[in-house]
Amino acid sequence: MTSHDDSPEDRHFAAQRQQLVSHLRGHGICDERVLWAMGQVPRHLFVETAYQDVAYEDRPLPIGQEQTISQPYIVARMTEALLGATEPPPRKVLEIGTGCGYQCAVLDLLVEHVYSIERLHALLEQAREHLAALAIHNCTLRHGDGFAGWPEEAPFDGIVVTAAPTSIPESLTAQLADGGRLVLPVGHAQQNLLVVQRCGNELRETMLEPVRFVPLVPGVA
Ligand code: SAH
Repeated sequence: MTSHDDSPEDRHFAAQRQQLVSHLRGHGICDERVLWAMGQVPRHLFVETAYQDVAYEDRPLPIGQEQTISQPYIVARMTEALLGATEPPPRKVLEIGTGCGYQCAVLDLLVEHVYSIERLHALLEQAREHLAALAIHNCTLRHGDGFAGWPEEAPFDGIVVTAAPTSIPESLTAQLADGGRLVLPVGHAQQNLLVVQRCGNELRETMLEPVRFVPLVPGVA
């Protein structure tokens, strides 16, 4: 990711980002790698100008097409769960639900390569612009239905799903490398954030916390 000019505006947003990092720490995010990455990515550049002033508040914001940029706490929590206690971190990660590209930019700082799928063409184009503006080149984006995963690039060391299916898609657990983790919200109105880890042929499931995501919708538009 390119560094920014040191203008008064950049310093203002950088200070807000550091406050957000303190807030995340206070809410239980403790992986220093994740806190560092959250402190680097300029979230205000992923939202419309009208929302830039509130870009570092801990809440989702509209990005058009009835979709949202995820709440920073959730991005941090999912990234922490994806990395686990592993050192070195996962090499190859798949994200389902690119949206405006923010989670991609966070992951880009922590893993070797990010593959990300978005079903809405208009949002994917937005994400491409945001990532290009920051000179992020380790993310490969695809317009498609995330329910299918990305079989040509499987297996993945980690998969993160940023929209909620009603059950764990088998197509995604099938694309996990041994030891790899799938982090995803599951449910309708009531959703839980789950981690599914592949240990050989076995899948170990852990529930993290209740969450609320937009639904994972089949097909593309
Ligand atoms: N990762 C984003 C959050 C995007 S919100 C961030 O960093 O803020 C969830 C996204 O999932 C939406 O853009 C939505 O269009 C997308 N989505 C929903 N169903 C999908 C599917 N089947 N395949 C791919 N993307 C999907």
